[in-house]
Amino acid sequence: MTRPRAKTPRSTSIATLRTAARANKILAILESTYPHARVTLDYKNPFQLLIATILAAQCTDERVNQVTKHLFKKYRTPQDFANADPSELEEAIRPTGFYRNKTRSIIGCSKQLVEKYGGQVPRTMEELIQLPGVWRKTANIVLGNAFGLSEGIAVDTHVTRVANRLGLAQSDKQDEIEQQLCRVIPREKWTLITHLLIFHGRTTCKAQRPACPRCQIRHLCPWPHKSS
Ligand code: SF4
Repeated sequence: MTRPRAKTPRSTSIATLRTAARANKILAILESTYPHARVTLDYKNPFQLLIATILAAQCTDERVNQVTKHLFKKYRTPQDFANADPSELEEAIRPTGFYRNKTRSIIGCSKQLVEKYGGQVPRTMEELIQLPGVWRKTANIVLGNAFGLSEGIAVDTHVTRVANRLGLAQSDKQDEIEQQLCRVIPREKWTLITHLLIFHGRTTCKAQRPACPRCQIRHLCPWPHKSS
């Protein structure tokens, strides 16, 4: 019986290099296709982006923006959120769903910002993920977009789906997808790739009916006939 050959480190690195080369071509096309790709949450400072990102869990950015338009007029600082009446805050953010958990996270997070960081949002992954309601994805969004720091790649449902279809990742776990993408995407593009994959996922590589025939990166995709 012939045993399957184990992958050698050399074959793994060649495969990674090939994927990285393909990823760079994909990146270039997506950059020209979506030149205005950016975070679609409205915010004026790192703290507002942090709160908006917590609210965006299981909710559309459009709905979060409708809520924060009024919310950020009433609650302007971490101190304001830390002292918020929980039932009032729950009511204000109810349209975003999971409002009780989100209220607990926002008040807890704001209290820690006031008590430990003088009301400032910390600039490291280690500190951010200690805050209530803040996961790697949230931290990556804040670090990349509010501070211009490339610590990792934010992975949401669009990034999960599109990266897997494109063969840039092979996992359904966000942490693993992030690690796999970081291996093949240049560090200076880590923040941008999230926006590009989200824009492509929303407009073309949709969950139910991906528009493969008009997809700009079809020739670089292992699944170009997914919609047929
Ligand atoms: S060819 Fe189809 S499956 Fe591949 S990225 Fe484009 S839309 Fe998605």
